[in-house]
Amino acid sequence: PGTPSAVGVPVDTHCPYCALQCGMSLRPGTSAGAQAADAGASVEVVERTAFDVNRGALCGKGRTAPALLSSGVRLTGPLVRRHPGGGLEPASWEEALDRVAAGLSGVRTAHGPDAVGVFGGGGLTNEKAYLLGKFARLVLGTSQIDYNGRFCMSSAAAAHNRAFGLDRGLPFPLADVARTGCVILVGSNPAETMPPALRYFTELRERGGKLVVIDPRRTRTAEHADLHLAPRPGTDLALALGMLHLVVAEGRVDEEFVAARTTGWPAARAAAMAHWPELVERITGVPVPALREAVAMFCDAGSSMVLTARGPEQQSKGTDTVGAWINLCLATGRAGRPLSGYGCLTGQGNGQGGREHGQKADQLPGYRRLDDPAAREHVARVWGVEPEVLPGPGRSAYELLDALGTDGGPRALLLSGSNPVVSAPHAAHVEERIASLDFLAVCDVVLSETAELADVVLPVAQWAEETGTVTSLEGRVLLRRRAVAAPPGVRTDLEVLNALAARLGWEKGFPTDPEEVFDELRRASAGGPADYSGITYRRIAEEDGVFWPCPEAPAGEGTDVPGPVPAPGPVPHPGTPRLFLDRFATPDGRARFVPVTHRPSAEEPDAGHPLLLTTGRVLAQYQSGAQTRRVAELNDAAPGPFVQLHPRLAERIGVAEGEPVAVVSRRGRAVAPARITPGIRPDTVFMPFHWPGAGRANTLTNPALDPTSRMPEFKVCAVRVERADGD
Ligand code: SF4
Repeated sequence: PGTPSAVGVPVDTHCPYCALQCGMSLRPGTSAGAQAADAGASVEVVERTAFDVNRGALCGKGRTAPALLSSGVRLTGPLVRRHPGGGLEPASWEEALDRVAAGLSGVRTAHGPDAVGVFGGGGLTNEKAYLLGKFARLVLGTSQIDYNGRFCMSSAAAAHNRAFGLDRGLPFPLADVARTGCVILVGSNPAETMPPALRYFTELRERGGKLVVIDPRRTRTAEHADLHLAPRPGTDLALALGMLHLVVAEGRVDEEFVAARTTGWPAARAAAMAHWPELVERITGVPVPALREAVAMFCDAGSSMVLTARGPEQQSKGTDTVGAWINLCLATGRAGRPLSGYGCLTGQGNGQGGREHGQKADQLPGYRRLDDPAAREHVARVWGVEPEVLPGPGRSAYELLDALGTDGGPRALLLSGSNPVVSAPHAAHVEERIASLDFLAVCDVVLSETAELADVVLPVAQWAEETGTVTSLEGRVLLRRRAVAAPPGVRTDLEVLNALAARLGWEKGFPTDPEEVFDELRRASAGGPADYSGITYRRIAEEDGVFWPCPEAPAGEGTDVPGPVPAPGPVPHPGTPRLFLDRFATPDGRARFVPVTHRPSAEEPDAGHPLLLTTGRVLAQYQSGAQTRRVAELNDAAPGPFVQLHPRLAERIGVAEGEPVAVVSRRGRAVAPARITPGIRPDTVFMPFHWPGAGRANTLTNPALDPTSRMPEFKVCAVRVERADGD
């Protein structure tokens, strides 16, 4: 899998962007081993209809992904800042790696191991995420590692673990979405974020099923819905409680299921009964009849699902908000049954795998807890060290960024696959903290806004230039294959970690072959919640993906690796497309109701900031835009930020379509052209967050954290808007 394809021979792989991980084939048009821009320039995307998730369909982001391989703006050699205050200059790999090693070890020697931080990304392959965690904990000896996936779905993950004992974004394949009876889609806009997934919802409706969309905006997805509810941002929890109240009041509780497969119902029931519909209408702005209609659609269907995305999750009460939706599923017997359940539509390309293999502050590979003695013992054995060597849990992503350069916080940072200067909440503050570091090294494919602040920038290979696995939003482990050679000045992240480990005195070496890393990851994950031990590159290739958990090694494979991979059985474990059908992953096998109650967002409107801001994505851009803003076709389609606002609000502040609007929160001010639409609540404005500069939405967002998951409150903060004359 590590050899570039021959000329014209298509290579099956997956898109580099979102968690849908659409299948595609890449046809290299130049000779095998071709180098640099020429290799990328001729790569052609070929439809791959055999991959069942997208059946050949791609959105514009996936279709144009090869453009960045050959782009003149990609990094093709290391850059170093030789003089404080000076610019970044080209350097050899030797010099750049020496500088990174010296920068990290100098800070470690002066201030201790926790003065060095590592920040990863949800787009890194499983192999990279695994090795980054191992590098941080063994080579650097730091507890200070977390990643941008904390900003993505961590509250859904926490709620999943709390209720079901296990977190896999979707506990069923996407195909089930088309075959269920009703889907409530909460704070998710797949028509723009993952367009090929929309077919599951249209097929659902063609089969007679119902789609309920809950979103403060009438999004492109909402236009496909049978029912659209537009709650005030930050009130989804109350909405779910109001629906559960009606479920109880209308006698729709599945008492048999609740008795047989759950615990904790009386307290959750009492919490819901305190949220009577008229109160919920006052909190959310959703009329009681619409609430009743949603309940009827959900409960009248023989099977139904709730799917959430960032809307309810990126809140300072995100875990409880998702928990409220899970409670609704449990009370109605819509969990642990075919074609029913709760699921999270994860956002980043490896958002699922990225949270399983150890780049998270509180986790070890296999989705093990870092504070679990048995987990530490197991992973330490695989790594050939004593468990006491492993540091304890560190700071969560925002807390880590907030602590940079402070007394007791990290003073040096190694960052890979993330651009927090654009994507973190309270971004101006985060930018300041990053700029205050004694030393910053960034691994990236382009000079992102964060890389611009670095002391050393290491150019790394792109998705089509290296092999690795990712785990899609279905919990399906997929193989991205190398199709073309990387430019000669570029190295893989695995090679970078290997070279740095050697310079930092780690004598055991770090593997650079992705399959070798994956085999080690399998051993580290064996017996853990996310057990990959039965998954091999060969199986993934032959089966077009394997759903975890997949515990046993298939016959003839995995038996030569030391450690606790179970002995191969006569029949390989088939993987687990559907979880919880027999039992939930809790000690007693029952799902846990957790009583939750509505509470206000961390910031409520006041006289100075009378409106609510919510943020999100647009069709042609992806996350911080570091990649997609550099693809001409995508940039032409979505060249800059905008402020979406209701006509009444626009009239009140005297702004016409396209005129600049200033949005002001307690943290700063952002300016972008007005986009006026009646499809947004009059008390709410929306900004996409893909851009830096004056229109940076995250200048405004609130870093208030969810107490359980440490998720920041991206989705709601108090603002005012005004004409931006003179800006
Ligand atoms: Fe890529 Fe996601 Fe678009 Fe599919 S939907 S092509 S995975 S960005």
